Amino acid sequence: MKSLLRDITDFFLPRTCHLCGCNLRDSEDAFCVRCVETLPRSLYHLMPMNPMERRFAGIVPFVRATGHFIYSRDSQLASAVHDMKYRKFPSVGTRLGEIVGEELLMVGFFEGADCILGVPMHWWKKAKRGYNQVDFIARGLSKATGLPTVDAVEAVKTHKTQTSMTLEQRQANLAGTFRLKDPEMLSGKGIVLVDDVCTTGATLRAIAGLIADEIPGSRLYLLSICVTV
Ligand SMILES: [Zn+2]
Repeated sequence: MKSLLRDITDFFLPRTCHLCGCNLRDSEDAFCVRCVETLPRSLYHLMPMNPMERRFAGIVPFVRATGHFIYSRDSQLASAVHDMKYRKFPSVGTRLGEIVGEELLMVGFFEGADCILGVPMHWWKKAKRGYNQVDFIARGLSKATGLPTVDAVEAVKTHKTQTSMTLEQRQANLAGTFRLKDPEMLSGKGIVLVDDVCTTGATLRAIAGLIADEIPGSRLYLLSICVTV
């Protein structure tokens, strides 16, 4: 029944790959198999003190940190991220989360982790967009790893778009943005803090700093699906 429904919807509204635009097979989701293979992986998780870990070392405590796909502005991946964030295709996030979760699970990245915490979005921004794409990423990661998602931090104020800001400007812009709404939920836990794109690391820093300050004994795994170099 499900495949009949899919056949019908595919006929009227064909599902296409968000990277190359080809028609997807039944077994494929968001991307075709060939594009999944060619996504630009950073392989940071295989490097000691990788560039993502260097962004946070000495600033916030963490167990491990990585960014999985290399992100550049005019790349195919950037257009898939644009679809995910602005063109109402949050399922791209679920698929990216699944791919990253499967690949990092194989190398033991999540050892000692208990839960997945996505970077929250202010309710007003979420209402305007209709969803927070990071919730979908967290869902995909959860599906691949079996770790539950937790909703323990909230964004209590909106902030300006940060695209053209320096790290210092971003940090000032983010001050007071996040609040722990359920510290008990994170107490003593290994927390995978996940974001969609990491450029300066200011957002992950702000939340990781908050957790480290307010929840002694927590262990942080910093994970961004995409990372700029
Ligand atoms: Zn493709």
